[in-house]
Amino acid sequence: MKPLALFGGTFDPVHLGHLSVAWEAAELLDAEVRLMPAHVPPHRPAPLASADQRVALLKAALQGQARLALDTRELERQGPSYTVDTLRELRAEIGERPLVLLVGADAFAGLPTWHRWRELFKLAHIGVLSRPGADVVVPDELHAEVAQRGVADVRLLRESSSGHMAELSVTPLEISATRIRELLAEGRDPRYLLPCGVFADASLLQPYRSAR
Ligand code: ATP
Repeated sequence: MKPLALFGGTFDPVHLGHLSVAWEAAELLDAEVRLMPAHVPPHRPAPLASADQRVALLKAALQGQARLALDTRELERQGPSYTVDTLRELRAEIGERPLVLLVGADAFAGLPTWHRWRELFKLAHIGVLSRPGADVVVPDELHAEVAQRGVADVRLLRESSSGHMAELSVTPLEISATRIRELLAEGRDPRYLLPCGVFADASLLQPYRSAR
């Protein structure tokens, strides 16, 4: 059965780095990939754009293709959006189907700060997306988990429901939402770092331009 892969983030705003790695992960795993914007990221400062604005950007970004979808369940839930709760909810919906949580290498290094992080492996596999420019130091407790769960062959993620961790080697694109927010706030036009759909409506990027 095709794995379901989730790619969570603040997407403040969604950029071509996100779309490219999500697309390549979909190909490598032959998975259905859903981008899942976070409501109140428990371990991060609040996003600059509102939840509605970030969803509008994601919808515009995802137009014209069918492989990457949008899942707004975390925005519909009250309170902080803990990944472990989201995975539990999804697991109840999909039964034994393989479930893969996709995280960039920088986010993966911070995994031990996530709420009930060890439970994540009971609910899903973790696919770690290579990310250039990320100064990644994997903490000891995570190393131990990787030694036990790490697999070199990504196909193993298709053959069971949860519990493995694999690196997904994707084309390095050194793009970050932080840099894009800076460029927009400076009045620059990061045209080819963002999906073209977000330029169709001038109001979509306004929250970042007006941060000047
Ligand atoms: P910010 O600069 O605001 O921290 P970001 O560009 O890291 O944002 P997020 O929405 O925080 O974007 O990221 C969501 C997920 O996407 C995280 O797992 C992150 O590691 C991953 N990610 C973001 N950009 C890239 C990229 N260029 N290559 C690989 N993974 C990425």
